[in-house]
Amino acid sequence: MRTQMATEAGRATAPSEDRALVGPNLLAVLDGVTAKDETGCVHSVGWFADQLAAEILRFAHHGPAAALVEAIKQTRELHEGDCDLDHPHSPSAAVGLVQIKDDVLRYLVLGDATVVVDTKRELHVVTDTQTNRTAGANPADVEHALTGEIPLADVRRVAILSDGAARAVDLFNLFDWPKALELMATNGPDDLIRKMRQVEKEDAKAIDWPRKKVSDDATVVYLDR
Ligand SMILES: [Zn+2]
Repeated sequence: MRTQMATEAGRATAPSEDRALVGPNLLAVLDGVTAKDETGCVHSVGWFADQLAAEILRFAHHGPAAALVEAIKQTRELHEGDCDLDHPHSPSAAVGLVQIKDDVLRYLVLGDATVVVDTKRELHVVTDTQTNRTAGANPADVEHALTGEIPLADVRRVAILSDGAARAVDLFNLFDWPKALELMATNGPDDLIRKMRQVEKEDAKAIDWPRKKVSDDATVVYLDR
């Protein structure tokens, strides 16, 4: 199995709030939710995403949901003394996570990250762009994650994308998911981001494709078997 990743900040003037994880049996993309003015937290979204990513990796011996629950709890402990974690805009992140263990691929999506699993039979595209649920300060929110498992023998390719990268397909329609996976297999996931940035540049006023951010942080983790 070979894993590649690509990530690029949406703007040159601000650090990316996406994080990519490639662990021994776990792949993940985290997308920190851009902070409002008041968050109740003295830390940055980047700090939150870093802590959550580190804790997910630390608990990767659990299943995806249990690992994320533990990661949220541990991250919570790091700042509940200093910060108001009941604040409605407390830092959070969308999470797309894939774990390969015991000949099974397990996935988890919480928020608008996208997990794409190409199998010998079908293409699974998993995302939640509707509910605004993310991984924040409350471990119980993991109950709402979209999860599933697929026999590893059936899996051909896997991609995990932040919404800033998935918009190449679901907003700009540069290609459909099968073609996006082909492109990543041939040219690598950075080519998907490059092609998308070109379109964003040509529509710099967001007129042809109305969108809140002209360019968003974009991250892809791609696995080929
Ligand atoms: Zn804090």
